[in-house]
Amino acid sequence: MSELTALYQDIILDHYKRPRHRGRLEPADGESEGYNPLCGDKVRLTLRWDEGGERIGEVAFEGEGCAISTASASLLTEAVAGKTKDEVRDLSASFLDVLTGDRDPLSDPRLGKLAALAGVRQYPMRVKCATLAWHTLLAALEGQHQPVSTE
Ligand code: ZN
Repeated sequence: MSELTALYQDIILDHYKRPRHRGRLEPADGESEGYNPLCGDKVRLTLRWDEGGERIGEVAFEGEGCAISTASASLLTEAVAGKTKDEVRDLSASFLDVLTGDRDPLSDPRLGKLAALAGVRQYPMRVKCATLAWHTLLAALEGQHQPVSTE
């Protein structure tokens, strides 16, 4: 196992065991639910805009899921804080592109720790675990109230 792979596994394990921003924001400016029937992962995101209303102040998540879905949601809450809707869309597109293609995750420095999840693309069943929280966040940003399903 390469050092980079080991580092990536440490990041995922850390976020699975000690998820960041776990819980629910009340009141929230936006919320959405997502479900990945392939694995049984469920996630519910709540978000608040910052005082200016243009940047994400905080995102919190709750739900039950596997290690990958939990770590991905936790990493997401850190990655999107302080970003505008457009920046989140760009980051999300880049992340989804890495997970569903073969682009080098280090080619986009904006991904930061999210690059740790790139390894799941070798396991197509798990890609939806890693992308669930992102699809759910995009739905929350669009004010979509229907639950998101990866299927
Ligand atoms: Zn899963």
